[in-house]
Amino acid sequence: MSHKNSNSELLNVVAAEVVVCIKCDLCKTRNKAVPGVGNTETKVLLIGEAPGGSEDIKGEPFVGSAGKFLDELLIEAGLSRKNVFITNIVKCRPPDNRDPSTEEIETCTPYLNRQINIIEPRLIVTLGKHSTAYIFSKANIPFRSITQTHGKTYEISVHGMKITVFPTFHPAAALYNAKYGDELLKDFRQLRKELLKREIVTV
Ligand code: URA
Ligand code: SF4
Repeated sequence: MSHKNSNSELLNVVAAEVVVCIKCDLCKTRNKAVPGVGNTETKVLLIGEAPGGSEDIKGEPFVGSAGKFLDELLIEAGLSRKNVFITNIVKCRPPDNRDPSTEEIETCTPYLNRQINIIEPRLIVTLGKHSTAYIFSKANIPFRSITQTHGKTYEISVHGMKITVFPTFHPAAALYNAKYGDELLKDFRQLRKELLKREIVTV
């Protein structure tokens, strides 16, 4: 009898490689690499930027203060951590939480691409400019700024799959400017509508 490996088994293979990866210099300063967590059968993938301090200690994405806010945002969209998968563009923490470099993004994103291919999401929420710019670049869509792009859907072909992309601000932006918090809440309410319209049922 043939046996097709489950998403969870396939994602575990990627995660096992990530936690011992030494492909870029971020491996020298990280505590724990952060492959991603969530529902492996989901239709909704969230992509952040890179692990911060708390994530680097725990090995899980969005467990610090930005993560607490993300939990509230997920509720606004009718979602929870139980029915989405969450990961980042870059799997190891950049020192002092600096932006990941172009080279680090290039070196690390093969892991993300494998995760996308396994999950085959119907919808990807890109959190912040790095994540949005990366996903847009895959479809040769010009990316100007997150301010001009956020809160709307884009039908994009990613690795031959038709995926709805919903860009929004990075949840950490809300921690230093309340304006972004309001925008994020609005965006996640809009996200709920977009999910309903497409009958994207999360498991
Ligand atoms: N910010 C991110 O982009 N990712 C995390 O995992 C935590 C904070
Ligand atoms: Fe490997 Fe990515 Fe970590 Fe660099 S950031 S060491 S490429 S897992």
